[in-house]
Amino acid sequence: MNGVYLLLGGNLGDRRKSLEKATRLIKSFFKIEKKSSIYESAAWGLEDQPSFYNQVLLGSTDLSAEQLLTAVLAVEEKMGRERIIKWGERLIDIDILYINQVILNSEQLTVPHPYIQERRFTLIPIVELSPGLQHPIIKKTQAQLLSCCEDHLNVFPINLASDGNL
Ligand code: ATP
Ligand code: CA
Ligand code: CA
Repeated sequence: MNGVYLLLGGNLGDRRKSLEKATRLIKSFFKIEKKSSIYESAAWGLEDQPSFYNQVLLGSTDLSAEQLLTAVLAVEEKMGRERIIKWGERLIDIDILYINQVILNSEQLTVPHPYIQERRFTLIPIVELSPGLQHPIIKKTQAQLLSCCEDHLNVFPINLASDGNL
């Protein structure tokens, strides 16, 4: 499968190191073609927690969609992610955003990821890589999704962000 977009995020510990470690582990089953900048993002959904570092990877894999989900969940596990509360703090989160124009809805896996259009921390790094990519269901480009997104939480490239609290 090519045209696969993964979103990495974390808000515990050394956030930059966590992204680097996840990327290293992901490389064993995923060929990275492009990486977005790293963004510091205010926490979405449950806002009273530390800000996140987020990054999008574009690439390809020999795995099927289900195998890819299993592989990314195994990376989270290997890195010691604990699920305590929904949308709570985490060392690493890896979501499958898009697989080309594929649409999937199983109990374990929804592609495109259902919240892309509601999250600036997701749209901004994808727009950096692929502004013209169409959402296969909504039929808008990533740039259009960003321009009509009602989320206004802060998202900055890390070299421009004040370190720490957004
Ligand atoms: P959100 O999905 O809103 O970003 P989250 O990332 O915090 O929330 P998790 O606890 O990481 O949610 O994932 C819960 C489950 O979501 C996973 O075990 C997986 O089965 C399922 N899931 C469904 N679609 C996807 C997808 N596109 N990418 C990753 N996980 C998915
Ligand atoms: Ca997520
Ligand atoms: Ca996830």
